[in-house]
Amino acid sequence: MKHLPALSLLLPLLLTGCSNGQQPYTRTTFAMDTVMELTAYGPQAEAAVDAGVDELFRLQNLLSVTQQTSEVWALNHSGGTPMQVSGDTLTLLDTARQIGDRSGGALDVTLYPILRAWGFTTDHHQIPSEDTLHSLLTAVDYQAVQTEGNTVTLHADMELDFGALAKGYAGERCAAMMREQGITSALLNLGGNVQTVGSKPDGTPWRALIQDPQGESGDYVGVLELTDQAAVTSGGYQRNFVQDGITYWHILDPETGSPARSGLQSVTIVGDSGTLCDGLSTALFVLGREDALGYWRTYGGFEAILIDDDNALWVTDGLHEQFTWNEASGYTLNWVDK
Ligand code: AMP
Ligand code: MG
Repeated sequence: MKHLPALSLLLPLLLTGCSNGQQPYTRTTFAMDTVMELTAYGPQAEAAVDAGVDELFRLQNLLSVTQQTSEVWALNHSGGTPMQVSGDTLTLLDTARQIGDRSGGALDVTLYPILRAWGFTTDHHQIPSEDTLHSLLTAVDYQAVQTEGNTVTLHADMELDFGALAKGYAGERCAAMMREQGITSALLNLGGNVQTVGSKPDGTPWRALIQDPQGESGDYVGVLELTDQAAVTSGGYQRNFVQDGITYWHILDPETGSPARSGLQSVTIVGDSGTLCDGLSTALFVLGREDALGYWRTYGGFEAILIDDDNALWVTDGLHEQFTWNEASGYTLNWVDK
């Protein structure tokens, strides 16, 4: 069995040195199981980046499924007793519920026991038996999570995991805090979840590479330009193991409890809300091309780049000004209209 560590999903292209007379301030840290890099420009940059790093750790300590002091841990061990939770948890539950409802349950934040059965919570991967999956699936249903005001009730056999949205939420929170502190130029790379504040100091958009799902790190299928937006990629190549020549990845189909095989290699979502982008990248990966584009046409509010198993890119037409295809990548390009 081979475990591949999470790779950089999107590679933001950072400026080197000073730009337009403004010095960047950068900090790299490890939080939420991934390497994160925050860079900001301007006189407030250092204070804003430091506050951003504090925020990342605050959220990690709140949302971690494995830290016994986290709120999510307490909720997962509440034994069915109603529990008051933070505004962060309520926001994540709300967003997850909206995407869950709109996607016919493709996103389900109560999948954690099944993720554990596959060993994705550790490095000891295994293929669970059909019986195990079947019995664990009976406790998977985000709609059974009850919320009243700021009180959440979780069935005793249920466990929440915000792994599909937490990094996007963290990026969105850091960006909002930075804007409040007067930052007009920052680039946050949270393990490949890219969040931008404003543009580059010279006024041009930030640029991020979209990873070739089959290539080496650094191989890319296109370049995205971003201003004040988030871009998030989900892909089966990011975390997986191989057994008997078959690759099993960490994005599961809540209907079967097994890795989602929808004909897509990766999904990148671009939009204003990092939380929504992150939740959607996971949900639309599960849905597959046709239903993913149906979701986009029905609800909108974001743009998408889908890469299918035939090495074709499907790019929604709102990205015409922002996306440049890398013709040499060997992937073909299709624009998608409303
Ligand atoms: P992402 O990398 O954002 O696509 O999120 C993947 C992570 O979300 C996994 O590591 C799991 O923790 C969790 N996850 C996997 N499949 C699902 C799903 N269908 N719904 C909700 N969470 C999921
Ligand atoms: Mg996600």
